[in-house]
Amino acid sequence: MRVTVDRDRCSGHVRCAALAPQVYRLDEEGYAAAGAHPVPPGQERPAERGALACPEGAISVSR
Ligand code: SF4
Repeated sequence: MRVTVDRDRCSGHVRCAALAPQVYRLDEEGYAAAGAHPVPPGQERPAERGALACPEGAISVSR
């Protein structure tokens, strides 16, 4: 599984990282690190919950 964060949509709410800190890292400005990131084993459900919690729809999940 992989998650992709669209930096143009991200507004820094940090809901994704609050729900899945092992999946969504924050950059130096407090936004979710942009780009595609592999989901660590066992973190699939937190990754999906984090994506659904994003109020900006900035996260896409692919398998
Ligand atoms: S929840 Fe969405 S808007 Fe907030 S930091 Fe994560 S990706 Fe960005």
